[in-house]
Amino acid sequence: MLEMRNKCERCEAALPPESKDAFICSHECTWCRACTEGPLDGTCPNCKGVLEKRPVRVTK
Ligand SMILES: [Zn+2]
Ligand SMILES: [Zn+2]
Repeated sequence: MLEMRNKCERCEAALPPESKDAFICSHECTWCRACTEGPLDGTCPNCKGVLEKRPVRVTK
């Protein structure tokens, strides 16, 4: 069971579980929207995987 990371691995922007600006690859490398849409261009620099929007974890 992998822990959900709560910050961007590149710029350390805060990405709490409810953030809509978090992107992950299939290995759960975690990135913010600015990095994903900017310098990373939708590709994980760690594993070359495609980055997708991380589902929002709703806390109630
Ligand atoms: Zn970032
Ligand atoms: Zn990755």
